Amino acid sequence: MGDERAERIAEFIEPLRVEPGSKVRLAKDFDPGYRAGISKKKEGVELLRNGIELLADYQRRLAAQDTYGVLLCLQALDAGGKDGTIRHVMSGVNPQGVRVSGFKVPSSEELDHDYLWRYTRELPRRGEIGIFNRSHYEEVLVVRVHPENLRRQKLPDTARGPDVWERRYREINDWEHYLSDNGFRIVKLFLNLSKDEQRIRFLKRIDVPERNWKFSSADVRERAYWDDYQRAFSQMLSATSTEWAPWYVIPADHKWFARVCAAAVLAHTLIDIDPRYPQVSDETRSELAEVRRELEAEAPEGAAPDPYAAQAGRAAAPPVAKERHRKRKKKHHRHS
Ligand code: AMP
Ligand code: MG
Repeated sequence: MGDERAERIAEFIEPLRVEPGSKVRLAKDFDPGYRAGISKKKEGVELLRNGIELLADYQRRLAAQDTYGVLLCLQALDAGGKDGTIRHVMSGVNPQGVRVSGFKVPSSEELDHDYLWRYTRELPRRGEIGIFNRSHYEEVLVVRVHPENLRRQKLPDTARGPDVWERRYREINDWEHYLSDNGFRIVKLFLNLSKDEQRIRFLKRIDVPERNWKFSSADVRERAYWDDYQRAFSQMLSATSTEWAPWYVIPADHKWFARVCAAAVLAHTLIDIDPRYPQVSDETRSELAEVRRELEAEAPEGAAPDPYAAQAGRAAAPPVAKERHRKRKKKHHRHS
């Protein structure tokens, strides 16, 4: 990884970062149509391809170590593009190292627990990237905009007073601080969509038959609460962007640009962790050399003792006999 590339990524995401302690007013501070001066989608697609390759490489290394894990939290308004962001940004990584969890209206079992319980249960392991498609932040968003959600949470009176939101911000910050102190880096992305782009995306869900299943009239009714959500998002961003888990506001009106940004923020975190393949001890290395000698001695006549090393130019290699493989292949053809 060149430092130059890392620097370019850091520079690119800087305008998206919510400075910890700053007071955010979404409408004034962040433009959903921002494109960082990239006018052509083609250029953005190229950037995204590079980002996806970079993520794949870093994710392999993250999976090989067992100290750090990453939690990616995605929040957005309806039609903000969470699903598409996950699909595109994570398209190059090994699914074995990623765990995606979505959060909907809490079940009755979930309501029988404290509000962070269901999120705790889905946290990634060390070596994993966990993705929260909606997250614990719903607890200060939809629950705040629609207070009947809070009433269903069976809280003691002391935990539902007028200070409930300030209290939750503090509890969430503390929880994230605890996680980050213990090796889990938290990446928080808010996909910031304009009201008109949301209108257009809802229309598309009506117009394109393959998208009808995504249309929900409840989502359209939520538009009546647009200003309440903007306020709740602004307060959440102001109160919970911290040094250990800062928020990034992703301009979401151009899907391709949102994806480039999401990949860049995640890449920035992985570069910062700088996961390394574990080194083996001298003892293990001499053990490996011993086993290699044994395996080489078992090579069939005329075959390279170690074809991999031969290919890598580490040893002289006689030609490898391929005859048997071809025969087997033929047989396979007949059966299929
Ligand atoms: P979807 O858009 O299909 O992911 O729908 C999930 C729904 O669950 C959204 O309408 C969210 O607002 C809602 N939801 C998620 N978390 C909570 C929560 N903690 N309390 C109440 N509703 C929630
Ligand atoms: Mg929905």
